[in-house]
Amino acid sequence: MKIGILGGGQLAQMMAIAGKKYGHKFMFLTDDPDSCAAPYGELLCAAFDDLDAQDHLAQWADVVTYEFENIPLALVQRIEALVPLNPSSSTLAVASDRLQEKNAFRALGIPTATFLPVENLTQLTEAYSHLGKTAILKTRTQGYDGKGQALLEQPEQIKVAWQVLGEVPCIIEEKIAFKREVSIIAARNSLGEIVFYPLSENTHRDGILRLSIARIDDPFQQQAEQMILRLMEYLNYVGVMALELFQVGDELFANEFSPRVHNSGHWTIEGATTSQFDNHLHAICGSPLGATLVKQPTAMVNLIGKLPSKKAMTGISNATLHNYGKQERPGRKVGHITLLHDRRSTIDAFSESLKKLLEIADENDLAKQCHLLLKSLLKNKPILE
Ligand code: ATP
Ligand code: MG
Repeated sequence: MKIGILGGGQLAQMMAIAGKKYGHKFMFLTDDPDSCAAPYGELLCAAFDDLDAQDHLAQWADVVTYEFENIPLALVQRIEALVPLNPSSSTLAVASDRLQEKNAFRALGIPTATFLPVENLTQLTEAYSHLGKTAILKTRTQGYDGKGQALLEQPEQIKVAWQVLGEVPCIIEEKIAFKREVSIIAARNSLGEIVFYPLSENTHRDGILRLSIARIDDPFQQQAEQMILRLMEYLNYVGVMALELFQVGDELFANEFSPRVHNSGHWTIEGATTSQFDNHLHAICGSPLGATLVKQPTAMVNLIGKLPSKKAMTGISNATLHNYGKQERPGRKVGHITLLHDRRSTIDAFSESLKKLLEIADENDLAKQCHLLLKSLLKNKPILE
């Protein structure tokens, strides 16, 4: 099939790498001439609102998908009128606006942090006093990697936060004291078939994902599956979706969903029988979905800002480096490393290797906690409590 992708970053790149073995061809619409997906397909370098470029993509492609949610809705609707688009523009409308997204969770009975919409400073001041001490202000649209957010801990911060975020429509939500963050990734095709991956347990720093650990047999798996199933059916969803969740006590709260392949699912390339990228392509192309079996403990470490030297990884077995081929720049996702547990060695050895990888990625604090994070795996039992 000919697959058009809006965007040309690492997610588009990994979709194209996955699609090569099925003979799919790719075209990327992006205004960045240095897009890292370019070597894996045809680069259509133009602004998203360039009508000629949109028409060209729509005429060439059998199906169009996207790698991020911050795309103007009108553009996506125009493309959808010309060529099949998955996930649909009506899904994108919900996913790209935090208020609509949270309202959808609420309507489906999926718990969330208490939230309130705010349109101006007066509303924000009222909402903050209603929520109590610690809250997070988030722009309704255009947020990613923790951008477009401000933490509010005292009333004096309200005005500055409102200005820093650009005085745009926002939501304010309570800051949740979560025990851990997890995400569930699932794929659904147009026949309504659904497959779920084991939960990823995720650690963020400065709003950016640093580490994901695949949780086989997690006691919260079913609860998370029920939530994403409800959401996918409600949206008549086609493609891969990630649902980000906070665990509080024995309950899960939904944070947000992504209508696309997700960073917390990168470990599925090596760790699962079918990767999230393969299953996204299967779903959007109307093909049967692949099995999501995970046979061994697997983890993924993000490389932010810079890549490790070649020799840094020597001696760490079962680690795979993914270099996206992007220019190194502070705060930029330039690659990731997947670590599989070598079944011939102990789970302690897995923990030691993960610690080394975190050190390589300059996640020294996380490296120190790594053993603790893997405690339940080390005991060979899932996290309860
Ligand atoms: P991304 O696109 O990378 O997933 P984002 O910019 O869309 O991130 P969120 O996922 O909403 O933003 O927030 C980023 C991180 O900030 C979360 O993963 C979580 O660690 C923290 N966070 C967000 N909302 C809350 C909350 N209500 N309570 C506690 N922590 C939160
Ligand atoms: Mg998020």
